[in-house]
Amino acid sequence: MTETETGPHTWRPDRFMVVAAHPDDADFGPAATVASWIDQGSVGWLVCCTSGDAGAEDPDTDPLDLAALREREQRAAAEVVGYEGVTFLHMPDGALVNDLILREHLVREIRTFRPDAVLATDPETLFYRDRGVNHTDHRAAGYAAVDAVYPAARNPMAFPWLAKQGLAAHRVRRIYLFWSDTPTVRVDVTGTVDRKLDALRAHASQLKDFDEIEKWTREWTAEVGKEVGVEAAEGFHMVMIDEDDEVEAAEAGGQVEAAVAES
Ligand SMILES: [Zn+2]
Repeated sequence: MTETETGPHTWRPDRFMVVAAHPDDADFGPAATVASWIDQGSVGWLVCCTSGDAGAEDPDTDPLDLAALREREQRAAAEVVGYEGVTFLHMPDGALVNDLILREHLVREIRTFRPDAVLATDPETLFYRDRGVNHTDHRAAGYAAVDAVYPAARNPMAFPWLAKQGLAAHRVRRIYLFWSDTPTVRVDVTGTVDRKLDALRAHASQLKDFDEIEKWTREWTAEVGKEVGVEAAEGFHMVMIDEDDEVEAAEAGGQVEAAVAES
């Protein structure tokens, strides 16, 4: 049984990484939480598995032009939110698969940036209750992020060439799954809903009726906020992998081992 917090969630990672399938997912998803954490001193990095090259309705659209446009839009949005940087993995939009190639890419990103928390789409969401289907890429990106975090990123024997190239194993402490039907924590985003909307505005190629998007974004965050007694919130299914004291003990142990090895 998963515990659900009754007040707003207050733990904050020093470093975090958002893994998204498409440009705009991170902004429709956890952007207000990301902006709030960054305002409080966290450092964030965004990884987009695809560049959204299938995100248009005209079949004559050039997918490479569209990908380049959507990368520019996502970089502009990421700047609004305050990420330190963005990586595009250039996987095909609509055909994302949780395979070893994607997992290795994500392990490489995690071991390079070394986040305390990874935010990703909840892979278990197949339907949004009875209102629509969750895109196959969102599910694939969610599974790939989870599988990259545990066990691959922390296991030096997973993709062993990475450790040999200097990308040492890294323990991500927590996973925050967004677009979840089973949220367990809600982050107060009262001060950053406007930034989320500014970030969403950057995705001009994807927006037909921004007024409608603004309306439901405000309604949705207010509804989630009400559950924890704040004006606006975003919900996540939070999965704890290592309690903070376990990580500190493991790191201290590592230092002792290193000191013994050196002596
Ligand atoms: Zn998407």
